[in-house]
Amino acid sequence: ASVQRDEGSASERKDAMPIHGVSETIVGVLGGGQLGRMLCQAASQMAIKIVTLDPLENCPASAISYQHFVGSFDDGESVREFAKRCGVLTVEIEHVDAVTLEKLEQQGIDCQPKASTIRIIQDKYLQKVHFSLHGIPLPDFIQIDDLASAEKAGDLFGYPLMIKSKRLAYDGRGNAVACNKEDLPSVVTALGGFDHGLYVERWTPFMKELSVIVARGRDNSMQCYPVVETIHKDNICHIVEAPANVSGKIKKLSIDVARKAVTSLEGAGVFAVELFLTRDGQVLLNEVAPRPHNSGHHTIESCYTSQYEQHLRAVLGLPLGDPSMKTPSAIMYNILGEDEGDAGFYLAHQLIGRALNIPGATVHCFLIEMRKQRKMGHITIVGPSMNIARRRLNLILEKETTGNH
Ligand code: ATP
Ligand code: MG
Ligand code: MG
Repeated sequence: ASVQRDEGSASERKDAMPIHGVSETIVGVLGGGQLGRMLCQAASQMAIKIVTLDPLENCPASAISYQHFVGSFDDGESVREFAKRCGVLTVEIEHVDAVTLEKLEQQGIDCQPKASTIRIIQDKYLQKVHFSLHGIPLPDFIQIDDLASAEKAGDLFGYPLMIKSKRLAYDGRGNAVACNKEDLPSVVTALGGFDHGLYVERWTPFMKELSVIVARGRDNSMQCYPVVETIHKDNICHIVEAPANVSGKIKKLSIDVARKAVTSLEGAGVFAVELFLTRDGQVLLNEVAPRPHNSGHHTIESCYTSQYEQHLRAVLGLPLGDPSMKTPSAIMYNILGEDEGDAGFYLAHQLIGRALNIPGATVHCFLIEMRKQRKMGHITIVGPSMNIARRRLNLILEKETTGNH
């Protein structure tokens, strides 16, 4: 462990010259996963110090953060202790102890985005209530407390019926689909029963899924990244295409919905707004992440300012950077474990080996252990057109053996 100096926050020391880097404020990040790791990479470029809190000693971020603390981001005492070391506190995961964050904020700790934002977002039902109260279009939803209310919801919304856990959801874990009334008991059981909180959503037969990353600075300035298309496989984000191949009208509508959603939340940072594009041209909100997001990985290679640098700029009160694309097209491909253990490593390394031979492809790896269906990194491919980027991806995936890349 390194020695920690008490450096205070930038705002307290306005008169003083920065001690290090672009900002002297130490950024505390709750969570040390891959998003935390990429925040650390962006920070290193600007000599900004990030400290991380995660229960895993060898989490993806720990190898490159300025200082890593082992502890739970969902435990009040750990978060309180950790906060003492940070000039500003932010998150790379929303499943943190929001109650403690709200108390810390009252005691003057600087949380960005605000604790209220984390509290609303981490409960997907509360999130939906919040956004519907703010007039943001989203699929119909209703809380369910027992089988009778689940059946009533099924009668109301029809089948298939999307059942979701209110809390601790990621990569579709926490979602399950009931195809008919008879399915309801087993689906509810699979989600752990009613005790942890469930709600249902009307099934949305979307044409495409879109995402917009919105950055808000401490001065309330806003910047939106280009609309991207996200393609999911088994509920997990699989491929992202930037920019999305949709009309200018749909792009504008998506950005309007995203800006409106973020405007209803408090605090600085980047926010990812997941959207459904329906057949009749409506854009509905799926959910918001109060942090950098999988749909923004591509920005590292394809935009002037990556979402990670932008998040740091935002929470530190620096000017926001240019979110526009510096390449015509980009594709992000998530590397998921295809098998457990060594067999999985072998497949992943073959894929990575091919990617290293493709122009415009960049490999990101943060692997800690190989598990089936677990994200272990991603590949971003930039190109002069989406067709060429797609062709390059197909070469990596061995879906195409000839062709000019
Ligand atoms: P994430 O990893 O993005 O946090 P999550 O576990 O919170 O995911 P959701 O975003 O709620 O899960 O849903 C995962 C995917 O399931 C969506 O991206 C979409 O493909 C599908 N989905 C979610 N809600 C619906 C719905 N109401 N109708 C149809 N498909 C849906
Ligand atoms: Mg989610
Ligand atoms: Mg989602």
